[in-house]
Amino acid sequence: MSTFPTERTVLLTGAGSPRGIGRYTAGYLAERGWHVGLVDIDGDAAAATAARIADRYGVRAVGVGADVADRDAVVAAVDALEARLPQVVALVAFAGVASPVPYLDLDADEWRRVVSVNLDGTHWVTQRVARTLVSHGVGRIVGISSVSAQRGGGTFSRTPYSAAKAGIQGFVRSVARELGPHGITANVIAPGPIDTDIMGGTLSEERKAAMAADGVLTRIGTPRDVAAAAAFLISEDSGFVTGQTLNVDGGLYMH
Ligand code: NAP
Repeated sequence: MSTFPTERTVLLTGAGSPRGIGRYTAGYLAERGWHVGLVDIDGDAAAATAARIADRYGVRAVGVGADVADRDAVVAAVDALEARLPQVVALVAFAGVASPVPYLDLDADEWRRVVSVNLDGTHWVTQRVARTLVSHGVGRIVGISSVSAQRGGGTFSRTPYSAAKAGIQGFVRSVARELGPHGITANVIAPGPIDTDIMGGTLSEERKAAMAADGVLTRIGTPRDVAAAAAFLISEDSGFVTGQTLNVDGGLYMH
C-alpha cells in the first residue's frame, strides 16, 4: 500500500472564481493540512486566492494562470507549481464552462469551446500530473462530472456540456485502470445543482427551490458538499476506491 508523504500538495484547476467550488475546496483542503497549487484561466484570481489561503491556513499555496484547454499552457503551469510546492499527491480538476445553447442552435465553435475546456482540459492536466504521480508511486486524481451527464441536462447546461461531462466518467475509469498498478486512484464527483454562479449568474431563491424540488432533499448543494467529497477521494485512506463516480446531488440520480 502506498503511503503519503507528510508534506503533500493538491493541485486544483478552476479555483479562481469567487463563489466557485474550486476556490472553496482549496480552502477546505488547506484547512486540513494540504499545500495547494491553483490553476485558473484568471491568473490574478488564482494568485490572490493562493495568497489568502497561505495567510489564513499557514500552508504553502501558489496560484498561476492557464487555459486548461491549451496543453502547453497546462504543462507550463504544473511545472511552475511543482517547482514551488511540496510533492504533488493529488489533483482535482474543477475547471469547466457551462453552455445553455439548445441543441439545434449549436455551432461548431460552441461545441469545441465546451468540450475543449471540460473534457480536453481534464485530460491535459491529468496526463501532466499523472507523470509526477507515477514517478512517486502514489497519487489521487479526481475529475468533475455532473448530474447533467447522467440525466441529459435538466438544470442549465445542455448537450455539449452533458457530452463532455459524460466523457469525463469514461476517461477517468480508463485512467484508473491504467494507473492503478502505479499506486494511483482516479475517481469522479458528479455534483447536482450547487449554489455557484455557473448556471447563468447567482441563483434566485425561486430557481434554487425549483431545482431542489427535483431531488429527494429539500435544498440544492453547496461548495462545501463537493469539497467534503473531494477531501475523501484524495485522502490516504480512500486508497481502495477507484474508477468510481460519487454523486453529490441530493438524490437527483440514484445509481
Ligand atoms: P465556476 O465558479 O464557474 O468555476 C469554474 C472555474 O473554472 C472558474 O474559476 C473559471 O474561471 C475556471 N475556468 C473556466 N474556464 C477555464 C479554462 N479554460 N481554464 C482554466 N480555468 C477555467 O463554477 P462551479 O460551479 O464552481 O463549477 C466547478 C466545476 O463543477 C465545473 O467543472 C462545473 O462544470 C462543475 N459542476 C458544477 C455544478 C453546479 O451546479 N455549480 C454542477 C455540476 C458540475 P473564471 O471564473 O475566471 O472564468
